[in-house]
This record gives sequence, structure tokens and C-alpha cells, in this order.
Amino acid sequence: MLDVDRNNFAPRNPYVNRPQYLGYNVTISAPHMHAFALEYLSDYCINGAHILDVGSGSGYLTVALSKMINDSGLVVGIEHINDLIIFGNNNVKKNHSYLVENGKIIFVNGDGRKGYIKYAPYNAIHVGAAVEKIPKALIDQLALNGRMFIPVGPKGKTQYIYLVDKDSDGKVTYKSILSVCYGMLTDVESQLNPED
Ligand code: SAH
Repeated sequence: MLDVDRNNFAPRNPYVNRPQYLGYNVTISAPHMHAFALEYLSDYCINGAHILDVGSGSGYLTVALSKMINDSGLVVGIEHINDLIIFGNNNVKKNHSYLVENGKIIFVNGDGRKGYIKYAPYNAIHVGAAVEKIPKALIDQLALNGRMFIPVGPKGKTQYIYLVDKDSDGKVTYKSILSVCYGMLTDVESQLNPED
């Protein structure tokens, strides 16, 4: 995280330990949540790894994950708001343009609930918004000996970070580790026009 200056990613108060509003009804996660995600995924961020960052938003964690694999392999940031893809790309370019130019980070527009099959399987998957039910596509796209970090629970209610681990035989185990409060992984229409 010391290699990735949050000032290039958060529009305001970059060094305050809180989420910051990005527009489009979403926030860049608080630094402590980025730190938890990186800690819990660190053993899976091996050199050459393929990593999926679902809901890449500001692009902060996408770059931090690339740093975890020493700029090797590939980190795919998937995001469904086109303006945020542009925002994330521009943020990365401020100090880490080589990662985009060398194809070590790519941002794609798509529904992260479906994963991104083209570069699967992924050694590590980070999900930056909560789901009521863990999408099967994401479990399917997790590599053997891989781990997914995903917030699970209903909108506005208690949610938990789950670690979803797939062992060398493909057996999947689930462990809840932390209670959290995330926005939801949703469709564009519901995100831009929330009912409440
Ligand atoms: N991890 C990022 C953003 C967290 S906010 C950061 O810390 O900056 C969650 C992000 O998920 C938002 O950018 C939102 O637009 C995106 N998102 C929500 N639902 C999505 C979906 N179905 N597919 C892809 N991205 C989604």
C-alpha cells in the first residue's frame, strides 16, 4: 500500500481511514478494508498469478494487487460503470502507467457477477461490493489452490467477509471472518437509481 498513493485514487481526504465518495453511488473502500483484502489474499498473490478485482472503481486495489505479484501475471479489474473504468484507468496512469501499457492491468466493462472467463482461472479474486449469494461463476473461475475475498449479506444489514478457498482437488470451503458494511454488487440501473 505504501507503493500506491491513495491521493491518486480518492477525490477527497485520501489519507483519512474512511470510504470516500466517487460518484455513481459508490465509494473507494476505506484503507483498512483494502489492507484486510491484501492481507487475506497475500499468500495467493504468487508471481505470475491471474487476479480478478470485481468492482474495480477507483483502481486503487487493482494496482495494489499488481504490486503484490511484483507487476507480473495479470490483474483484471471488472467494473460496470464506464465512467469509472475511465476514472480508474486515469488514476493508474498518474503513477503506474507502465502497468496498463505493459498489459499487467486491464480494465474491462462487464457484470462482475459473471466473472471474466477470458483470463480464468484466477488465483485470487477480490470482490469490492456485497452479494446476497456468492455467484457460482466466481467460484467456478477460482483456480485450484485459489482464494476469493467477498462480502456477503443483504443490503444495509450485517454482512460478513467470506474467504472462499478452493483446494488442490477442487473442494470449496467457506469461512466468515469479519463483519462489514459494503454497497451491493448490482445492475447499473439499480445502482444509479436506488429505491431508498
Ligand atoms: N474496490 C473499489 C470500488 C468499491 S465500490 C475501490 O475501492 O475503489 C464497488 C464498485 O463495484 C463500484 O465501482 C461499482 O460501480 C462496482 N459494481 C457494482 N456492481 C457491479 C457489477 N455487477 N459488476 C461490476 N462492477 C460492479
